[in-house]
Amino acid sequence: MSARLAVSGERCTGHGRCYTLATTGWLSPDDEGYVEVKGSAVAVPEGREAEAWDAVSVCPEAAITITEDESGSS
Ligand code: SF4
Repeated sequence: MSARLAVSGERCTGHGRCYTLATTGWLSPDDEGYVEVKGSAVAVPEGREAEAWDAVSVCPEAAITITEDESGSS
């Protein structure tokens, strides 16, 4: 099963908790401190699903959503 992590462009205010506290390098900041994927989505790397859900938990703006693709395609 693959998953995608999406960040709302309207909700993300750049706290940085998703890329500093929850994940190990596959989310990163842009030049202004917002998560780079703000306003879009990224595939969750294989085996990092728990980190993706941690990112959901630590975001104070509830900006992150995860979509799981049960077909296995990405
Ligand atoms: S923790 Fe939430 S508000 Fe902060 S950068 Fe990540 S997505 Fe944006």
